[in-house]
Amino acid sequence: MLKVGIIGVGTVGASVANILRDNKNIITARAGKEIIPTIGVVSNLHKKRDVDIKLTDNIDDVLNDDSIDIIVELMGGIEKPHEIVKKALQKGKAVVTANKALLAYHRYELQELAGDIPFEFEAAVAGGIPIINALRDGLSANHIKSIQGIMNGTCNYMLTRMINDGISYDEILKEAQNLGYAEADPTFDVGGFDASHKLLILASIAYGIDAKPEDILIEGIDTITNADIEFAKEFEYSIKLLGIAKKVGQEIELRVHPVLIPQDKMIAKVDGVMNGISVVGDKVGETMFYGAGAGGDATASAVVANIIDIARRGKGSPMLGFEKQPGEKLSLMSKENISTKYYLRLEVADKSGTLAKIATILGDNSISIEAMLQKPLKNGSANLLLTTHTCVEKDILKAMKEVENSGVVLVKPAMIRIEE
Ligand code: NAP
Repeated sequence: MLKVGIIGVGTVGASVANILRDNKNIITARAGKEIIPTIGVVSNLHKKRDVDIKLTDNIDDVLNDDSIDIIVELMGGIEKPHEIVKKALQKGKAVVTANKALLAYHRYELQELAGDIPFEFEAAVAGGIPIINALRDGLSANHIKSIQGIMNGTCNYMLTRMINDGISYDEILKEAQNLGYAEADPTFDVGGFDASHKLLILASIAYGIDAKPEDILIEGIDTITNADIEFAKEFEYSIKLLGIAKKVGQEIELRVHPVLIPQDKMIAKVDGVMNGISVVGDKVGETMFYGAGAGGDATASAVVANIIDIARRGKGSPMLGFEKQPGEKLSLMSKENISTKYYLRLEVADKSGTLAKIATILGDNSISIEAMLQKPLKNGSANLLLTTHTCVEKDILKAMKEVENSGVVLVKPAMIRIEE
């Protein structure tokens, strides 16, 4: 028998307790032993909740109980769970967490502390999709060439509605907040930070890259306008917020930003709140994972899978963790050296000489134009929509600064990277 203490009995924690109760027979059969959720920790004992485990508001009731084998951390936050997980591991208790923010900052330290004690976190990336298991296990024979993931359901819902229904960013943000998909302060989701936490976890497993969110390129969806959506449709692109990890030589590009992606790509078809992750291995080719990225039951499904796995394996046989890449030295590519194609939207006064000036600035910065479209606007100005051939991030950033200061654009130029 294995006893489980659940720290945080909210959306996910309550589902974990209920899945362990509702699916008890099949879980016992698969785990090879009975798994019992004995106690849960909450901050407000008076809140009504649909669980039938004993509750406490004292975390030490769980940490100091020697009969508890596995601590499930589902309270959220960074520093408090960091302390709790450290204490649990020091006491020799196995830990399962769904906390991507905790892992984005402390994953290597906690794994090192865990040593042979199981420390699992499948639910931290893309909720119910078993992507961590796939990278560690099913794809472990491969060098991972790339990972592209839609890992934030809120952004994907908003972009899907903007594309399909022509709704503006501000309107759809309000709708997402009313539906409970977006927080009152939506920055963490729409700014790309949530997706960056998940990308860093995957990149650690695939490449052994120990980076923090502030080390990588992160841009959100809040600058996407209906003009960009119209362009995307006209040129058969979709717009998605992707977390991208790519191996280029011995360097790894890591970035989170909106992309224009051809509509016929599988990942472009992942719509609404769903998540999708494409992983390309050098031997297997492209594999694609699709499913619910959030929600109590879907996320708890991954948490309980980790618990079952710990019951089966026991201590002393840790899974592949955040690898230090034996046999291969990989480093994080600097943000400035990322190279890709770009879409640019420049609002210009509709007069002669404008185009020549822009073309000269781009040419002087080694940027060549692939396609161009001019859309007149009501006020006598025009939107100049350009796509470039592959060029380097630092060149395009310099060129955009020069265009902005050249006097030919009326507002700050907009830029979306293209993935093909
Ligand atoms: P939640 O609904 O807010 O639940 C948090 C729980 O922790 C609540 O029961 C809360 O108590 C308890 N808690 C918070 N601070 C506490 C403290 N200081 N002492 C004691 N109890 C405390 O959060 P959630 O949505 O279940 O998310 C939990 C974790 O899973 C987070 O790390 C989140 O990022 C991750 N995750 C969630 C989802 C999802 O779909 N929700 C998906 C993937 C990953 P009260 O109930 O009394 O307030």
